[in-house]
Amino acid sequence: MVTKTKTVGVLALQGDVREHAKMLSDLGVAVTLVKKATDLSSLDGLVIPGGESTTISMLINRANLMQPLRDFIKAEKAVYGSCAGMILLSDQLLDGRTDQETIGGIDITVRRNAFGRQVDSFEKEIDLGPIGISKFMAVFIRAPLVEKVGGQVEIIAALPNTAQDSRIVMVQQGNLLATSFHPELTGDNRIHKYFVSLL
Ligand code: GLN
Repeated sequence: MVTKTKTVGVLALQGDVREHAKMLSDLGVAVTLVKKATDLSSLDGLVIPGGESTTISMLINRANLMQPLRDFIKAEKAVYGSCAGMILLSDQLLDGRTDQETIGGIDITVRRNAFGRQVDSFEKEIDLGPIGISKFMAVFIRAPLVEKVGGQVEIIAALPNTAQDSRIVMVQQGNLLATSFHPELTGDNRIHKYFVSLL
């Protein structure tokens, strides 16, 4: 049987675009860098990288990409956001800049920079039980947290030894996936592999 190579876009306005692109192409996926609306046509999925969500959302508006991205999500394509990407996929945002818009799609309430200034970055080994991944070293950098999830959202991981409901770090809703950490900055491609399985 011949299977067609899948094509995944990486939103390439700001952030760790290269790291996501490398992980995806190492998995045998064709990668397109998305900078304008026409780049979205014929993609099987899209990754929204980590970076600075206020900057990315401003650049999305400047490139007239907000509606095309919302349409892409509505078309039930697979989309994965890491860190700033999680913020951009959230329906409700806390501690965003007043003029900050999200693309939305996942029925979650996310708090930006939820660990405060004292905790800039840290690593923690976590289990992603619902998708069969254990001992994943998660890298958090000025990370957001999910404070509330809607009924359609599956919680994939939360930080251990803390109140489960307010320390959620990975969620899935249909074909939409989000992590508050950065698997693209580690050598561990299991989350990207799982994402590719959703395409
Ligand atoms: N704190 C950043 C923001 O608000 C996200 C950090 C990251 O993507 N590493 O966008």
